[in-house]
Amino acid sequence: MQAGLIDGRAQAGALRARVTEEVAALVRDRGIQPGLAVVLVGDDAASQIYVRSKGEQTIAAGMHSATHILPGDATLKVLLDLVQTLNADPAIHGILVQLPLPAHLNPNVVIAAVDPDKDVDGLTVINAGRLASGLPTLTPCTPLGCLILLRETLGDLAGYNAVVIGRSVLVGRPVAQLLLAANCTVTIAHSRTRELPAVCRQADILVAAIGRPEMVRGDWIKPGATVIDVGINRAPFRDPVKAAQGRTRVVGDVAFKEASRVASWITPVPGGVGPMTVACLLQNTLTAARRIHGIVE
Ligand code: NDP
Repeated sequence: MQAGLIDGRAQAGALRARVTEEVAALVRDRGIQPGLAVVLVGDDAASQIYVRSKGEQTIAAGMHSATHILPGDATLKVLLDLVQTLNADPAIHGILVQLPLPAHLNPNVVIAAVDPDKDVDGLTVINAGRLASGLPTLTPCTPLGCLILLRETLGDLAGYNAVVIGRSVLVGRPVAQLLLAANCTVTIAHSRTRELPAVCRQADILVAAIGRPEMVRGDWIKPGATVIDVGINRAPFRDPVKAAQGRTRVVGDVAFKEASRVASWITPVPGGVGPMTVACLLQNTLTAARRIHGIVE
């Protein structure tokens, strides 16, 4: 068996196109242009790339984009004042504080300051609680992307056995909540789980959000399963020449080739879950704008 590829780039492109159309309609019919503010503290190179890409995609979708870059030694007060200004700004419907923050800034305090109605990262306790309670919420972007890929691949998810490896607030927990809301039978595995390979072999749907390169092996996969690999890891090249040059490649948490021989469907890394994240951020900004203006979806 050779698994089918779940094409995250194509799905993300389709979602962005849909959001772009809906933004245009919102501007045309109601005079509302959704606005997304991204806050970056410091000059971390990877974060700068993410932030630039988010800004470009926001503008491409017809939304208002505001990027605020604070110096790496900015105080908590300066950052919280900025968040409050954005909370009060009627042109801004979504606020994203790029993580990780420098060590002197407690991310929990900063996230708690974001108006939950503008929390397009879905990280405030209010939005996490709404998700856990099955109430309308702003769902964290990467988990939302996983669910969209699963729905597009499998249709109705009711009754599937789903195993999520990872219980982070950012990925594992919200993915599990979304699968539960979609009527899957959900197991959350983590670093203390016993017999992890055997647990994974029960999964019709396996979501790996671990941060360990290629940890999930082919013989952990139930034949015919659907595998969503959230992991983004750097690993040395197998080619000894490239490895000796210190070059690295991006790999997921799943040993892709092995798993592809057993699964029915699998996301590649890169090109699977990754592209969905920013597309879902745009979707969330549109959703937030509609709700703030009392427009029923
Ligand atoms: P965290 O480090 O916050 O969480 C990792 C989770 O994996 C924890 O719950 C941990 O368990 C579990 N874990 C670690 N080691 C093992 C092990 N040996 N066996 C079983 N479980 C284990 O990571 P994130 O959730 O933030 O991210 C996970 C991965 O997803 C990373 O590779 C990250 O880069 C990627 N990612 C990708 C995104 C995308 O856009 N595609 C977005 C966000 C993240 P415990 O709780 O017990 O410590």
